[in-house]
Order: sequence, then structure tokens, then C-alpha cells
Amino acid sequence: MDEIGDWFQDGLKFKCTGCGKCCTGSPGYVFLSSTDLERLADHFSLSIEEFAKKYTRLVDGKYALLDRPGSGDCIFLEKNQCTVYTSRPVQCQTFPWWIYNLQSPEDWKEAGERCEGIDHEDAPVIPLLNIQAQCLTYLDNLIEQHFTNP
Ligand code: SF4
Repeated sequence: MDEIGDWFQDGLKFKCTGCGKCCTGSPGYVFLSSTDLERLADHFSLSIEEFAKKYTRLVDGKYALLDRPGSGDCIFLEKNQCTVYTSRPVQCQTFPWWIYNLQSPEDWKEAGERCEGIDHEDAPVIPLLNIQAQCLTYLDNLIEQHFTNP
């Protein structure tokens, strides 16, 4: 079986350009694990229940952040800035190192069609070990999301 990273031993180029595209438009959901919920509730000095009621909805039985009414933009995006940046969900923190983007060069290229920071000419090369660590964090969070029951 291939390991994550067999095809990018020399790392991958990425830098966030701050374009905000990963936080805007539909389709797409920001799903939350129980750790995300705790961190974001703390950010607003709310209980988890209060935070969930105010800022989330249920999608396929899982907590997801609300969109701004009338658009597919994240409720926490203002003037192209994340207003909860230091407390943002792990799904956001680990982009673009999601398993779906890393399975093959074709998947990485396809992700690059939606994100201008992927393979950007000015981007640094992110080393293999950093990418693997981010991807494992993403996967751990995915499992936690699965067990975060409303
Ligand atoms: S929480 Fe922040 S980083 Fe995540 S989608 Fe919303 S605005 Fe973007």
C-alpha cells in the first residue's frame, strides 16, 4: 500500500494568498469536531450549546458552520478576513493538506484549480514531513467530527 507522500517526497509548493476563495461560495461545508466547538465557544465566551445554536447547523448529522445569509460565504468571513483566525476550525487550519488533495498529482492539480496558492510561483516548498503531519491532523479531526454527536 502507498504511504501518504510517496509521490511528493520533495515537498509541495503552497502559500496562502489571502484570496478568501476557500471561505466563500458554495458548495462546501466547514464541519466541526468537539475540540473545534470547544475552542470556538471559548473564543466567544459562550457555552458549547450557545455557540452551536448561534453559529452552526446540522448537515448529515454533523455540526457545520453557518453561511452568511444570501451567500455561500462563511459566517466568520468579513472583508476577506477570518474573524476567528486564531480559533479557526482544524478543517480550515489544515487546508490544503487534506487527504483528498494529496492522493495523486492529479488530485493536487485539481485542487489547484480551486486555490491559487497551490503551486503558486512565489510559494515556498513545504517539506514532506510537515505535509504528512498536517494531513494526519486533518484525518484525526475527521474521525473526531464523526464521533461528535449533536
Ligand atoms: S472559519 Fe475562518 S478560515 Fe474557516 S472558512 Fe470561516 S472564515 Fe474561512
